[in-house]
Amino acid sequence: MAVNQSSPELFAGEAVREHQERLLCELVPRLYERSPFYRRKLREAGIDPREIRTLDDLAYVPFTTKDELREGYPLGLMAVPEEEVVRIHSSSGTTGKPVIVPYTARDVEIWSILFARCYAMAGVTAWDRVQITPGYGLWTAGIGFQAGAERLGAMVVPMGPGNTEKQLQMMVDMRSTVLTATSSYALLLAEEITRRGLREHIHLRCGIFGSERWGSRMRARIEEMLGIESFDIYGLTEVYGPGIAIDCPAHVGLHYWSDHLLFEIIDPATGKRLPPGAEGELVITTLTKEGMPLLRYRTRDITCLIPDPCPCGNPYPLMSRVLGRSDDMIKFKGVNIFPGQIDHVLKKTPGVSSEYRIILTREQGRDSMLIRVEGEPGATPADVAVLFRKNVKVYIGVTVDVEIVPYGSLPRSEKKTKRIIDRRDDLE
Ligand code: ZN
Repeated sequence: MAVNQSSPELFAGEAVREHQERLLCELVPRLYERSPFYRRKLREAGIDPREIRTLDDLAYVPFTTKDELREGYPLGLMAVPEEEVVRIHSSSGTTGKPVIVPYTARDVEIWSILFARCYAMAGVTAWDRVQITPGYGLWTAGIGFQAGAERLGAMVVPMGPGNTEKQLQMMVDMRSTVLTATSSYALLLAEEITRRGLREHIHLRCGIFGSERWGSRMRARIEEMLGIESFDIYGLTEVYGPGIAIDCPAHVGLHYWSDHLLFEIIDPATGKRLPPGAEGELVITTLTKEGMPLLRYRTRDITCLIPDPCPCGNPYPLMSRVLGRSDDMIKFKGVNIFPGQIDHVLKKTPGVSSEYRIILTREQGRDSMLIRVEGEPGATPADVAVLFRKNVKVYIGVTVDVEIVPYGSLPRSEKKTKRIIDRRDDLE
């Protein structure tokens, strides 16, 4: 299958709906027949699989949750005979049991096609050299980035995570043009390159970063230090892995591959489907996956589907950058706060860097929030603190304590950075 085998014109507007509904009519009966998990689930909901024919019908199908996938550990959601499975991946499992995802040969191939489209969207070609720093193994990131780049015909420099010394040496010697990383690690590398004065020895022109939410300020910093254009890539292990959506040169949102995936947005509290443009939780139905297809999987990522066509001219539909996870929502003094809103305040406050920690404490039943933010070199901490505190009040509507710490003093991470520390349930 070639990267552009599907004609993108088919996947815009009304044509998307027809295509998706055609695949849906095939998917639901297939799952009923082959997946004991979904057969039970659909039966319990009183759903005849042949009656799910349209996107409106889909709204009657119950959601699939991460807890259900965990309960199915290890292969309870496998929907093909085992001889068709060629590989498994696993989610990190930092909380509770991991989720094991079986892939057929066709799943692996389609994932690489979708991933190659992501690279093409970012302007990567067969002439590029792609340095891959995310982890390999059970995690989907490293191998996904590699398979997509190889399908496109680029040269892969498969570093895997860590060993910054070696990363920089290969980046210089191999003249890598594309860096793929978590945004945290991209920042760490960018700062190291700046500190060592290596900027004129590197040849990067493009960065593809993902696996965690990252704010505009952090993005601007990485781009400036490395002299690159960066692209936000999205994905999750349960649905192939990274590579199911990416932003384009217009940087107004992320195009997603609507010929293979059906996206809905729901209100995370009520489960009701929300109209395009409304912010809520992303729910994904995999239309062509075989090993472990999912019906209405609740991703817990908060985003919205953008109804307008993209100025870049690509017809695949857009979602906005992920604002946060519904689990990451901080409930503070009756206000729901997403980390994306903190990013917005960072962007609006001159003199702060992209790095922060939120520390929540409770004393005598009273909640307090301390935001520790790195100041830019040369900024006056006291003035910046006053301004930041004021902006939090203006943009989020809560009163917090602010501490400005020296630039570079908050720990950097090679994987995902934990920015929220909630000590409210600790013993006083
Ligand atoms: Zn676009």
